[in-house]
Amino acid sequence: MEQYPTAGTVLAAAETDIGESIEPLGLRKRTAYFRRASAQLLARHDGRVPDSRSELLGLHGVGEYTAASVLAHAYGRNASAVDTNVARVLARVFGSESAEPESSEMWDLSDRLAPPGRCDDFLHALIDFGAAVCTARDPNCESCPFEATCEYETERSTDE
Ligand code: SF4
Repeated sequence: MEQYPTAGTVLAAAETDIGESIEPLGLRKRTAYFRRASAQLLARHDGRVPDSRSELLGLHGVGEYTAASVLAHAYGRNASAVDTNVARVLARVFGSESAEPESSEMWDLSDRLAPPGRCDDFLHALIDFGAAVCTARDPNCESCPFEATCEYETERSTDE
């Protein structure tokens, strides 16, 4: 954000420099998207990031997850965004068959659970919780606040 604060600064930079800057974020493959989307922002939106889902989805490299994330985090909207971590936590707690982040069940669930006005905090909390406690390979159920009600943990302890 400090290095490329505007769409214009993205376009003025060399593609290799942008790639190196965003590589630590695991986003190097998105370098071309950033440049194309930046050109679109300048051409269509006067350099501003739009605050509507349909306009966001019209930008290169922006899908449902990114559009919802921008709306929740940049504009404080009640927009749920389900990534791998969020889907895993929700599927385990509620005993869903599918933990796919594309699953409409996960998006509906997230929509219903997110407290109005604090969707961004809710999503951050779930992402952090999925990375620190309810991890993919070794969930720390013994110290989890959902231990008593989580479907996954109930099933697991019944099997033991
Ligand atoms: S009890 Fe275990 S599986 Fe359930 S949410 Fe907590 S860490 Fe995840």
